[in-house]
Amino acid sequence: MRLSKYYLPTLKEAPKDADTVSAKLMLRAGLIRKTASGIYEWLPLGLKVLKKVEQIVREEMNAAGSNEVWLPLIQPKELWEESGRWNYYGRELLRIKDRKGAEFCFAPTAEEVITNLIKRDVTSYRQLPVSLYQFASKFRDEIRPRFGVMRAREFYMKDGYSFHADEDSINKHYQEIYDAYVRIFTRCGFKFKPVEADTGAIGGNFSHEFMVLAETGENEIANCPHCGYAANTEKAEIMPTVFPAASGLKTMEKAATPGAHTVEDVAKMLGRRPEDLIKLLVFTADGKPVAALMRGDHELNEHKLKSFLKASQLEKANEETYVKLTGSPVGFAGPAGLKEKGVKLIADYHVRGVVNGVAGGNEKDMHAVNVNPGRDFEPEIYADLKIAASGDACAKCGGKFTFTRGIEVGHTFKLGTKYSVSMKAEFLDENQKSKPFLMGCYGIGISRVVAAAIEQSHDVNGIIWPAPLAPFDVYLATVDADINPKVKEAAEGVYKKLEGAGFEVLYDDRAERPGIKFKDADLIGLPHRIVVSTRTLEAGQCEYKARVSKDAVRWDLAELADKFKTLK
Ligand code: ATP
Ligand code: MG
Repeated sequence: MRLSKYYLPTLKEAPKDADTVSAKLMLRAGLIRKTASGIYEWLPLGLKVLKKVEQIVREEMNAAGSNEVWLPLIQPKELWEESGRWNYYGRELLRIKDRKGAEFCFAPTAEEVITNLIKRDVTSYRQLPVSLYQFASKFRDEIRPRFGVMRAREFYMKDGYSFHADEDSINKHYQEIYDAYVRIFTRCGFKFKPVEADTGAIGGNFSHEFMVLAETGENEIANCPHCGYAANTEKAEIMPTVFPAASGLKTMEKAATPGAHTVEDVAKMLGRRPEDLIKLLVFTADGKPVAALMRGDHELNEHKLKSFLKASQLEKANEETYVKLTGSPVGFAGPAGLKEKGVKLIADYHVRGVVNGVAGGNEKDMHAVNVNPGRDFEPEIYADLKIAASGDACAKCGGKFTFTRGIEVGHTFKLGTKYSVSMKAEFLDENQKSKPFLMGCYGIGISRVVAAAIEQSHDVNGIIWPAPLAPFDVYLATVDADINPKVKEAAEGVYKKLEGAGFEVLYDDRAERPGIKFKDADLIGLPHRIVVSTRTLEAGQCEYKARVSKDAVRWDLAELADKFKTLK
């Protein structure tokens, strides 16, 4: 490809609102442009990378026995009502009406459409299993679109779905897809890690997220160096601490804490440490009131609470609900007497170890001090509700967690019968008995993969593409071609030879200054750079530099064929 004919608008500076390295570089290197918040145009160079990722994913999905389809972007409300997600999905679902007033949504994912498809066509266990996937745009009206195409509203996804007659069959295919994902991200040249993910209301250890390891990742991963367990901190199970029997219990009394709303305020005012406090957080889970108790210095993991309650919706109580449920102003409700008010009380394991603690006093500007679990209140149950953090031990083996950050590029999920039951998608088994399909779903954020590749591999000058994703293999540039026809002639020769040897070449035949060409070459980050100039030509040579190395070397033009072999 001749750069003089290629649409590659590079920028010296990234737009001000670009908030990550990958967003900045994608804009500067002319891969994307921003149309609106979370919505992007993909330019030729960006699209070329996107297509490389797509092709790797396609090959491996096909090898795993899945079939490519193309499903609609605009989906009827009725299907989403059948699954119950028309209301449940909330405001991330962008809804529209057609000219007749019929309601639709833009697909954020396609479980409804695919379940409806299979329900009509597959009636017998003999037709199972079925595995289908597609590449398509998705729309999610994210609250905070950010990090360029990493968390966009419109993005490009591979979404796959499988249907099975029994557990063995889904387990087998889940493993096939898992293995395909490992091959995909290995082929992309990533440092990555599959980790156990939160399964929300569905339960079971059958969800994995594939994380590209990067300091800037949105997700935190807890790793156990001892047994190898790795999980999103949303999920990471913590070993309960065993506390010795408490002694020296003091008499509970009230203490005034005027205007103290935060753990820090209360601790300071009472001369105590945050870990002496028991904080209470109020929620409604599928409409029912729940209070979670945490040690003052610990963070509640809402995903764990939601999973524990097997709730499909968990909402933090607003001020009005808080007051109504607890009878206390926000920040001052304590665990004592809450059960009697009909609020389910669940405490994190660590609360059990608090001795002579501080809790809400159930009235304005008051706290209770010398509160002791078991004596002054008893939660309905103790559970693991804490966000895994430094010092916590792995629930599997007791090893101490270490933490890394990652970008979630893929997600595999065993769905069970969630959609087939609600949408009445059934088949006849060997005994002519009607059964709901067992389902799995498998996503890869293709457009996010492109950004993740850059996030993981770049330097101050620009992108450093892993070779399998590079939009072209070689950046070939001329210096002084406008004043020296021999340079042009030689460069044309190199260009033809490179293409003949099977390389994809971006040939910078523009009449630009060398400085500009070299800057662009580094910015767009192709693995190899070859330069033909008057100076190199005088010695019958060209100059070669790998994007990853600092120094250039000279190649004899007469030996190009041999030199090319070193590029593969
Ligand atoms: P997240 O926790 O990041 O919001 P999710 O759990 O909503 O992700 P899935 O529904 O599992 O994501 O979607 C499958 C894949 O699509 C994700 O693994 C991710 O790579 C990609 N993806 C999800 N949301 C976005 C987005 N807003 N922009 C770009 N890619 C996305
Ligand atoms: Mg999401």
